[in-house]
Amino acid sequence: RADVALYEAKRSGRDRTVHQAGDRAAAEELRRALVGGELHVYFQPIVDLGGPVPCVTGAEALVRWIHPERGTVPPLEFIPFAESSGLIREIGRHVLFEACEHAAAWDRSEGRPLKVTVNVSARELDDECYAEQVHEALERSGLPADALVLEITESTLSGPGEQAQRTLEHLRGHGVRIAIDDFGTGYSSLSRLDALPIDILKIDRSFVSPIGPTTRSAPLVAAITAMASALGLAVVAEGVEDEHQALLLASLGCGEGQGYLFGRPVPPAELLAQVEPVAAE
Ligand code: C2E
Ligand code: CA
Ligand code: CA
Ligand code: CA
Repeated sequence: RADVALYEAKRSGRDRTVHQAGDRAAAEELRRALVGGELHVYFQPIVDLGGPVPCVTGAEALVRWIHPERGTVPPLEFIPFAESSGLIREIGRHVLFEACEHAAAWDRSEGRPLKVTVNVSARELDDECYAEQVHEALERSGLPADALVLEITESTLSGPGEQAQRTLEHLRGHGVRIAIDDFGTGYSSLSRLDALPIDILKIDRSFVSPIGPTTRSAPLVAAITAMASALGLAVVAEGVEDEHQALLLASLGCGEGQGYLFGRPVPPAELLAQVEPVAAE
């Protein structure tokens, strides 16, 4: 029996070693991809649902790994690993700087306050240098602070450490807005919502896709928008895929939407064609 235990211990030790070696190799590859310029920032339009025709109000920056052999690797295949390995700090920095740089070039004349939204992981917010990094990205690009929105998931917000809380409050004080991403999927207590340093709720796709007369999603969305409006928060619906959803969401009080109906995530040059169609006239 002692032999078995010893064998098990050795085996799990070896597994861990193999695992760690695998992680090291993967981290190395991801770092090489970052340095080698394989991580690109795409943008997906966010539109105003209220008007007669949907007009673009901003765009979300979404990272893409364009691998020379594997093609486009979706973020869900490397972001979790980037988070656990800590590489997310460098990737997040790259995305933030790229996003601000591109967004600074968007036409903001004639009352077009286009915003750019950037996803931020908990690991990044824990870093006491994070606020400084945001200031640097804004200064270097010339993007006004109120054109930047940071998207933070509910799980990050439900237990924000003191550092994260301080950072968010500091940045909001400078005009940067904060959105709760994937709202409704986490465990944030509704009673605490008014105490959180946030400006925008993004309703998760899981409430939006099944929306229709035969499901219970519509009353849920209505309840979320009513609550948001009482708290003075803007609402963006994620994953809007058809016209019917867009109309229903607008009637339920949802101000803005994002989804394949309005546009998929595209490289910056392609987004410009959607954001500035008037420029061509
Ligand atoms: P997310 O922040 O919830 O981003 C929205 C995801 O939904 C994107 O997936 C987008 O392509 C997808 N989507 C948009 N509209 C529709 C639609 O109408 N239907 C469907 N089925 N999907 C839609 P993507 O680009 O694969 O990103 C996945 C997740 O990876 C993001 O979810 C975000 O959590 C994470 N992520 C992406 N870029 C970054 C980044 O730069 N930093 C960090 N920390 N996370 C990122
Ligand atoms: Ca997001
Ligand atoms: Ca989301
Ligand atoms: Ca998500």
